Amino acid sequence: MQRAIAAYLGLAVGDALGATVEFMTPAEIRHEYDTHKNMIGGGWLKLKAGEITDDTEMSLALGNAILAAGKVEPTSVAEAFSQWMRGKPKDIGNTVRRGIVQFRRTRQTAMPESEHDAGNGACMRCLPVALSTLHSSWTDVQSASRLQAHTTHNNLVSDAGTECILQMVQAAILGEPLAELELLAHELVARYPVFEYRQRRRDNPSGYIVDTLQAVFQALFSTNSFETALVEVVNRGGDADTTGAILGMVAGALYGLENIPTRWLDRLDDNIRTQCTQQARALYQLAQQGHLQ
Ligand code: MG
Ligand code: MG
Repeated sequence: MQRAIAAYLGLAVGDALGATVEFMTPAEIRHEYDTHKNMIGGGWLKLKAGEITDDTEMSLALGNAILAAGKVEPTSVAEAFSQWMRGKPKDIGNTVRRGIVQFRRTRQTAMPESEHDAGNGACMRCLPVALSTLHSSWTDVQSASRLQAHTTHNNLVSDAGTECILQMVQAAILGEPLAELELLAHELVARYPVFEYRQRRRDNPSGYIVDTLQAVFQALFSTNSFETALVEVVNRGGDADTTGAILGMVAGALYGLENIPTRWLDRLDDNIRTQCTQQARALYQLAQQGHLQ
């Protein structure tokens, strides 16, 4: 349970820390901050210190939909995303917006498959699926993942990357060490060589799922703490709130709550911190119930 909570707070902390330097290059970050490691807000979205963005907001919307339906039910998920968009979020990805608009028009909950929709938008919000399917068979995890992902992103590479992150989060919550998570990354590369991350450093990662996960893997597997891993990934700039969010959920589950620096946790909005904690608990319990039936 503690690791599930740590994954959720890790996601929020990563989002909030990374958002300050989203769309900056590593050189611009160095010039401005030397190393960016404090939760100071700002950035292109002009955030308050500790404020989170769409990555955490969409995760919370998805988690609420899963809890209300007792499972990943695509119409509830699409409704939740639509409701979230109605609240005029500060940031929303193009592919996400398109998926929600299509749902409003047609009530269809799956976008057509598209080779262009390989953004990281489905992956950044996948944590509630990881938690609610913690004890499910891999086939069930995969199908739940695709139901949520395809409301906006229907793409094989996005699916593969998202499912690898789900697997890593689940393995970490169940107590597997970093070396085991690295094997999962190797398996992904074996199936989809485009994800190869061991050859060239990925700086300034874009929103393309491949760039994003290359930066996340390089930072995660070259460090040995939540703090060093998160600082490493967000200082690469680019889509830094999302690399931060994805790395944060995996590293949170891996290193545990006691290793997420309190100077970051304390900066999160009280309401967001509470929502993340409560939702992590409820989703973890939902997975336990399914497991016991
Ligand atoms: Mg964001
Ligand atoms: Mg982003």
